[in-house]
Amino acid sequence: MRIVSLASGSSGNAILVDSGATKVLVDCGIGPRTLKQRLAFVGVTPEELSAVFVTHEHVDHSRGIAQVSAKWKWSVFGSAGTVRGLDAEVRHRAHVVPRDTRVGDLDIELIRVPHDANEPTALVFSDRGTGMRAGLAHDLGEPTDALVKAFCGVDLLCIEANHDATMLREGPYPSYLKHRVASATGHLSNEQATAFIDAVATSALRAVLLLHLSEVNNTPSVACAATKRGITRRARRASLAAAVRKAPSAPIGSCRATQMALAL
Ligand SMILES: [Zn+2]
Ligand SMILES: [Zn+2]
Repeated sequence: MRIVSLASGSSGNAILVDSGATKVLVDCGIGPRTLKQRLAFVGVTPEELSAVFVTHEHVDHSRGIAQVSAKWKWSVFGSAGTVRGLDAEVRHRAHVVPRDTRVGDLDIELIRVPHDANEPTALVFSDRGTGMRAGLAHDLGEPTDALVKAFCGVDLLCIEANHDATMLREGPYPSYLKHRVASATGHLSNEQATAFIDAVATSALRAVLLLHLSEVNNTPSVACAATKRGITRRARRASLAAAVRKAPSAPIGSCRATQMALAL
C-alpha cells in the first residue's frame, strides 16, 4: 500500500490510498482538472479509482466531491453527519458508513475525532493482501484515546501538524481565530502531533507524513524539526516528511506492483 498526498492544507486536501489493486481518494478539496494532473504525476488515472471517502464537510475537504465523483462514477463514503453536510447533488447518492466498510481489498475503519464539523472522522486502511495498515487523521483539535487505540501499530501514519504554538500565538490571526485553531475542536499543533506519533508508534511504523500545515503559522522545516526533536526511539526509525500544499508529495509506503517487483 502506498499513500500520496495530492493537496494539503486550507487551500484544499486530497490523499490517494493505493493498494495496487484498489485505489481510493480521501477528501477532495480541489477540482477535477487539478486532481487529474496530480494523479498523473504518480502514474494513476482517475478512472482507476473507485471511491472517495470524505473526512468532514469543510470546503477544503469537500469542494470537489460532487464534481469528481459524478465525472468518474466514484462511490462517496462518509459518516452520517458528514454526508448530511455535503452538497445536495451528492448527498443523495453518498453512502453512510457507521463504523467500517470494505472497498476491494481495503478494509476501512472510521474513527470519530473532535473538530468543529458535523461528524468528522479519521480513517484506518488495512490492506487484506499485505496486512499493511495506514492511519490518516487531519483536522482534529486533540487526539482521543479511541484514536490512539485505532492507530496503534500502523505501518504508515499521516497526521495533521497544523501549527507551531508560538507562531500561532504571536502571528497575525485575529484572536477569535487563534482560539478556534488552538481549541480542542480546532487543529493539532506540531507538539500535539509529535506526542501522538510517539503514542501510536511501534516497530511496524515505516513512514510518517505530516498533513494540513498552516501557511501562516508553520513551515515544513519547523514542523519536521519539532517532530524530530520530540519523538523517541521507536518512532525515529520511520521516515518523516511534510505534505506539500499544492503539489503531490513523495509517496510513502509502496504499492503491490513495487513490492512484487522487489520480491522477484
Ligand atoms: Zn481542513
Ligand atoms: Zn476542517
